[in-house]
Amino acid sequence: MNRFLKVGLIATAAAMLLASPLSAKKIRWKLAETWPSTLTPLASPPAKLAALMKEMSDGEFIIKVEGKEKHKAPLGILDMVKGGQYQMGHSGSYYWKGKDINTVWFTTVPFGMTPSEQYAWFYYGNGMKYMKEVYDKFGVYSYPGGNTGNQMGGWFRKEIKSVDDLKGLKMRIPGLAGEVMAKLGVNVTNIPAGELYTSLDRGTIDALEWVGPGMDIKMGFHKVAKYYYTGWHEPASEMQFLVNKKAFDKLPKKYQVMLETAMKAVSMDMYIENFAESADAWAKMKKEYPDIKVKTFPKPVLEALKKAADEVYAGYAAKNPKFKEIWTDYKAYMKKARAWSMMSQYYYLKMSKDLNITK
Ligand code: CA
Repeated sequence: MNRFLKVGLIATAAAMLLASPLSAKKIRWKLAETWPSTLTPLASPPAKLAALMKEMSDGEFIIKVEGKEKHKAPLGILDMVKGGQYQMGHSGSYYWKGKDINTVWFTTVPFGMTPSEQYAWFYYGNGMKYMKEVYDKFGVYSYPGGNTGNQMGGWFRKEIKSVDDLKGLKMRIPGLAGEVMAKLGVNVTNIPAGELYTSLDRGTIDALEWVGPGMDIKMGFHKVAKYYYTGWHEPASEMQFLVNKKAFDKLPKKYQVMLETAMKAVSMDMYIENFAESADAWAKMKKEYPDIKVKTFPKPVLEALKKAADEVYAGYAAKNPKFKEIWTDYKAYMKKARAWSMMSQYYYLKMSKDLNITK
């Protein structure tokens, strides 16, 4: 080693020694998620976010992710992030509809937008603006946190041939969709995930909805109910990241940018992951359980559901001016975006079916 290089190295080492106590001390955050930490793909975004933040910050920004098995409060995430016990959360906005009905707009709504339409609304329409307004009073920021894509309408033990078949049917279906089903006489119940299979198997419930093939296959519903209905009620379920406002505002700008960029990246990744898992799972189900019957509700049933959904929306809009404002904006955006979806995706898929191009 020549002398100059040696001196240079010593100087660098000395500078590093001097710099290290002064360099920003490590940021250590905790994130609580609604799901068990093994429930992928829902649990994927927080785990991937923590890994990305660690790498991108050279180990200076550490996020410890705690699943439901640890904190035992799956529906306490918003309160825990608001209170600062956790700087971050990962959950679903529509779980907070009891605190503010306007939180439903940031997950998905019955007969609402598709994922691409909804992402356009979030990032290039008024979605993010409204989400910020709605969550402001909780002292948190909310961000999109990964999409399940269009969900299936659920598993039914019996075929639904008419609106009358819904009367008295016992079904697990949460959110606004549950309110819509209740209007048509469905006996809506909520049952913890761990008891769903047994409830359906024993006939405690007649039907349930969960997500789509990728997540449903792990639950085994296809073994106990053979009618698998296409969706209408959760066309684009978006998860959410919650961030305590004070904690975020205190971060150096570079970490704010890093965090927001990483949240967006891992959210998009969940959408892709779930799509891939559903494609795999559906191929497997079709092969191993050829008696699964994929059905779409008859048109009169769908029309009755749509009418009931509009009544539910109108009921909230009459009492809540903010609901009315967001509903109006959402509908106008959907109308514009849907016209393009039809011209692009719908006609492409229709042509692909007509020509049977995947054979
Ligand atoms: Ca669902």
